[in-house]
Amino acid sequence: MAQTIYHNLIGGEWLPAKSGSTLKNINPADHSDVVGIFPSSDAEDVALAVAAAKKAFASWRLVPAPKRAEILYRAGQLLSERKEKYAQEMTREMGKVLAETRGDVQEAIDEAYYVAGEGRRLFGVTVPSELANKFAMSVRMPVGVIGMIAPWNFPMAIPSWKLFPALVSGNTCVIKPAEDTPLSTYNLVQTLMDAGLPPGVVNIVSGYGPEAGAPLVEHPDVRAVSFTGSSAVGSHVAQRAAANFKPVSLEMGGKNAMIVMNDANLELALEGALWGAFGTTGQRCTATSRILLHKDIAAEFTTKLVARAAALKVGNGLEAGVEVGPQVNEQQIETSTRYVGIAAAEGATILTGGQALTEGPYANGTFFAPTVLGSVTPDMRIAREEVFGPVVSLIEFSTIEEAIEIANSIDYGLSTALYTKDVNRAFTAIRDLEAGITYINAPTIGAEVHLPFGGVKQTGNGHREGLGALDFYTTWKSVYVDYSDKLQRAQIDNAE
Ligand code: ADP
Repeated sequence: MAQTIYHNLIGGEWLPAKSGSTLKNINPADHSDVVGIFPSSDAEDVALAVAAAKKAFASWRLVPAPKRAEILYRAGQLLSERKEKYAQEMTREMGKVLAETRGDVQEAIDEAYYVAGEGRRLFGVTVPSELANKFAMSVRMPVGVIGMIAPWNFPMAIPSWKLFPALVSGNTCVIKPAEDTPLSTYNLVQTLMDAGLPPGVVNIVSGYGPEAGAPLVEHPDVRAVSFTGSSAVGSHVAQRAAANFKPVSLEMGGKNAMIVMNDANLELALEGALWGAFGTTGQRCTATSRILLHKDIAAEFTTKLVARAAALKVGNGLEAGVEVGPQVNEQQIETSTRYVGIAAAEGATILTGGQALTEGPYANGTFFAPTVLGSVTPDMRIAREEVFGPVVSLIEFSTIEEAIEIANSIDYGLSTALYTKDVNRAFTAIRDLEAGITYINAPTIGAEVHLPFGGVKQTGNGHREGLGALDFYTTWKSVYVDYSDKLQRAQIDNAE
């Protein structure tokens, strides 16, 4: 396939990196397939993009929100028309199977329609004043230029969760896509431009984290930063932004537990486990990476899960019948391999998989066998640290209380799942599981765009995407209008 050269989008113009440096976007299923050549940007390019966004903010903030929303709505319609093409390109650059990349584009479509509706709401609060002949209300104001740093696992959906609410609120944006998957962000932003977004309102600088991401976080004209990625980088980003009191929204890791009780529909739980653990090749922040099994059903469930995991068809996500695509790059393969080694050294049993696939059809890509680890105990590193690969750990328990304690015994708190037919247990778990998301009789993955998305503990810093994103992308202004024609002093003139 032809190699295409892509440029940064700055102030409506497509420009190469000032330094001329580039990076290669390659297909993780076939390294001989170069998806595109992208700029490897640095602080100079970031400064130009931020200046363009700052200039565009002066007029974009004055466009009525319902008009801003109409552009997003049109973008949703265009994404629907382009869904298949963009899904194919996403599978080529990121690896996950076509059904999933179609879902990723669909999520951006859903987000466009959801957020477009906000253009006619953006609700503030109107309250009575404590003084006579005085009116009190509050309105949402845009923040300014927002810096956005995205990961590679949802290369269109996650940028849409950031860009669309920021745009409808009247902000302008500079986005740095992940170095492994810039094309899907380009496709998303190209669609916004085709839908009528004015130049400079969204700017893209592609490149590596330290060279292109760090200067974006630190630029004084960037008023807020939205980051999704690893906890290690998120912590660094938050500390850099804190130096000048910049708000940061962080979405980071997970070590998500699925609890299977002895009264659960085991076939349903099995389907959920396979989808939760091996969907997106385990490379979701919400991936099911711990399955907590009630001791009564543990043996039966384990046998069935291992057989089904071993039979999953791994391969190029563009090929029909493939269920699990490659991992995104060699570094992810190294992480999966390392964690399987750590688990085995700590006493876990490799029940299936456990290594990279390198022969025959796998020789040109970064593939890892779907892996199930048995005899895992809650204190092992494999039960506590994020792998971000197709590796799931099985842990046994005796009571729901014990299961909840194990589920909560980690530093992360993103997603959890419980399989049971007992409504009392279900509601107890909903109350007691320390996580931003809890599913009952569904796996830990599958968030919908119009609910809050995010986690507690080391998964995030309290912000939410989806419902709640407007709270990050707007700032409150309280407005008092006194029509009494005299000085009225709050807390003084109305006090008896
Ligand atoms: P992942 O595991 O998804 O690769 P990372 O946290 O490494 O998670 O990367 C997420 C995003 O953060 C990517 O776009 C990456 O380029 C960016 N990034 C990495 N290092 C830094 C940094 N020092 N400053 C800002 N962004 C960074």
